Amino acid sequence: MARVPYLTSRLQGFGTSIFAEMSALAVKTGALNLGQGFPDTDGPTEVSEAAIAAIRAGANQYPPGPGTDDLREAVAEHQQRFWNLSFDPASEILITAGATEALAASLLGLCETGDEVVVFDPTYDSYAAGIALAGARMRGVLLRPPADGSGSFWFDEEELRRAFNPKTRLILLNTPHNPTGKVFTKEELTLVAELCQEHDVIAVTDEVYEHLLFDGRQHHSLAGLPGMADRTLTVSSGGKSFSFTGWKIGWACGPAPIVNAVKTAKQFLTFVNGAPFQPAIATGLRLGDDYFEQFTSDLQNKRDLLGGLLESAGFDVFQPEGTYFTTVDIRSVGATDSIDFCLGLPERAGVVAVPSAVFYQDQRDGQHLARFCFAKNDAMLADAGQRLVDAFGR
Ligand code: PMP
Ligand code: GLN
Repeated sequence: MARVPYLTSRLQGFGTSIFAEMSALAVKTGALNLGQGFPDTDGPTEVSEAAIAAIRAGANQYPPGPGTDDLREAVAEHQQRFWNLSFDPASEILITAGATEALAASLLGLCETGDEVVVFDPTYDSYAAGIALAGARMRGVLLRPPADGSGSFWFDEEELRRAFNPKTRLILLNTPHNPTGKVFTKEELTLVAELCQEHDVIAVTDEVYEHLLFDGRQHHSLAGLPGMADRTLTVSSGGKSFSFTGWKIGWACGPAPIVNAVKTAKQFLTFVNGAPFQPAIATGLRLGDDYFEQFTSDLQNKRDLLGGLLESAGFDVFQPEGTYFTTVDIRSVGATDSIDFCLGLPERAGVVAVPSAVFYQDQRDGQHLARFCFAKNDAMLADAGQRLVDAFGR
């Protein structure tokens, strides 16, 4: 690949993020955008009203470095209430510019040049770039699609064991997992926990879809497993849970020494962000259980609506266990290359999807997969689904 002028060697090979590229394609072609993951309706009014009230009340200057006291308390209450995890808001919680900054600051603050970071492959796109910026090396463990289309994406236990070695500094684990929709089971997390302890490795968990699990599945935080509380940093954000992805309020919770290391890097990235959105996300975190239950059940209905239409269009569908993304096998409609398929989809069907190949370390592992986002109003999902049926259905 040609060298990009001026760009640091650490970022050679990282072009424009696929999400920006596919959303631009949707705007250019007027196609329905099921690519980038964001909802097309605003989150709860109490939450947006809290942001407006905070602006009016003058919460417009730099908030405190680690985040407002109230938001850190709200995060602590939330972690206790939902996942039975205890954190001291004063020393064990850091507010960040979205989960993205929490992850980047973790990698920059915790890794030495040459350290290895274990990930499950495919990964969300910022992982590879964050690892490269930190001068570390990514060590992927492949998540394989279920053979018969139903069931979970899975990994080979031996491959995970082999990924851990004396150079391993941390494992970056995302559950529920983007893009596959996999929810890691307690047994799988127990194996990860054992390996972390055996090899003295830190775990950073990305739990931004913690409230999006379907069919009654339970979310498990790695930090809650025996022996993990003192070596796990739990990351999440308000973007997905409250449908305000543009506000970029995230957090990292863990033992004070780890949080401190991450804070040292974070303070030189953004320092702080989102003053009026911090109290608003605190309001969101304190909403009643009914909000979270309704949110999950609405998204489950959307998953089923889109999944049914994708099947009618002739796709083999991997129904996600969590997240708001559905993966399909494009070979079922005679396509072989997910990048070509997604670049041609606006013209062929008037719909935008994301080629899953770009999330894989070796793109060939995902070249037959494409990802559709279903966090959209039902009319749009029905329209997009019908377009796909018209374009591909027999
Ligand atoms: N992790 C995963 C797995 C994601 O899908 C996303 C996308 N929102 C992020 C992190 C980034 O979250 P935020 O917008 O809070 O930075
Ligand atoms: N997390 C979203 C996705 O996977 C997109 C976030 C972004 O655009 N960086 O689609």
